[in-house]
Amino acid sequence: MAEIDLHCHSTISDGLLPPAEVVARAASRGVKVLALTDHDDVRGLAEATLAANTAGIKLINGVEISVNWGKQTLHIVGLNIDPTNAILLAGLESIRSGRVARAKLMSQDLARVGIAGVFEGALPYAANPEMIGRAHIARYLVEKGICKNMQAVFRRYLTPGKPGYVAHEWTNLAHSIDWIHAAGGLAILAHPGRYDVGKKQLRMLIGEFRDLGGDALEVATANHTPVQIAQFALLAAEFGLMASAGSDFHGAGHYGDIGAVPPLPETCRPVWHQFAPTADALQTQSPLELNTTRTTTAL
Ligand code: AMP
Ligand code: MN
Ligand code: MN
Ligand code: MN
Repeated sequence: MAEIDLHCHSTISDGLLPPAEVVARAASRGVKVLALTDHDDVRGLAEATLAANTAGIKLINGVEISVNWGKQTLHIVGLNIDPTNAILLAGLESIRSGRVARAKLMSQDLARVGIAGVFEGALPYAANPEMIGRAHIARYLVEKGICKNMQAVFRRYLTPGKPGYVAHEWTNLAHSIDWIHAAGGLAILAHPGRYDVGKKQLRMLIGEFRDLGGDALEVATANHTPVQIAQFALLAAEFGLMASAGSDFHGAGHYGDIGAVPPLPETCRPVWHQFAPTADALQTQSPLELNTTRTTTAL
């Protein structure tokens, strides 16, 4: 169990728990520093911050931005952002707006293979209807008995080349990084082990991310293997990037549980060394390794 978890979701996007319950679960599992990183939306952060203050843990304002990179969809996590920044808010709004139309197209595609009524069925699974996405559709298909679990839904229906997949235009890598930086945050390439790219293409991606100003790689996440974690730690060092770590918790059975984050290899420069310490964090400085002085490492 880790004390620092810098990636998780609430009902604001495709998580199963409201922001305050995500924070309460984190606190009960011994997490001391938590970033809530909902997809393309920061509207859970105020509630999460209040809950974190009550629980005595530190909430880092975060977001996870959906990005197109060639045929791939990438996720760029922003950490320690100002959630009121106008540039960030306008950018996020621009990529949220197409989700309902996309879900209707996915539903039409699934109807063609004999699964009718998916849009209407999945809508109640999205607490925030504007944020309807593949996870809500997948939960509906599991509960309808079409597939036995989420993995099976994604494998059979919701990934490129499958009958319910609809390509979507999000934003590009440069914009995602710029919005995060405009809001004073750090840009992290999320879960590099989950993209459908070979070694050479992954190096190209990391190089481009770094050249565009990206700050860190999410080296450790629940479903990275120990071998992947070691590889990503080496890549982070080679490309001069910091390292982040987070569970990507969405709810029971969907990626890792909160705080279930493998430790970063010692060679990594953790992103949390950049976070300004709070009075609370200072009292528990050593286990959290929060710096009293900002490191002077150039970003
Ligand atoms: P969307 O933003 O609508 O494209 O949905 C992306 C989300 O779908 C991810 O953040 C995950 O929550 C979920 N997802 C994607 N692939 C998988 C998978 N293989 N297993 C479980 N969840 C997945
Ligand atoms: Mn998700
Ligand atoms: Mn993601
Ligand atoms: Mn995520």
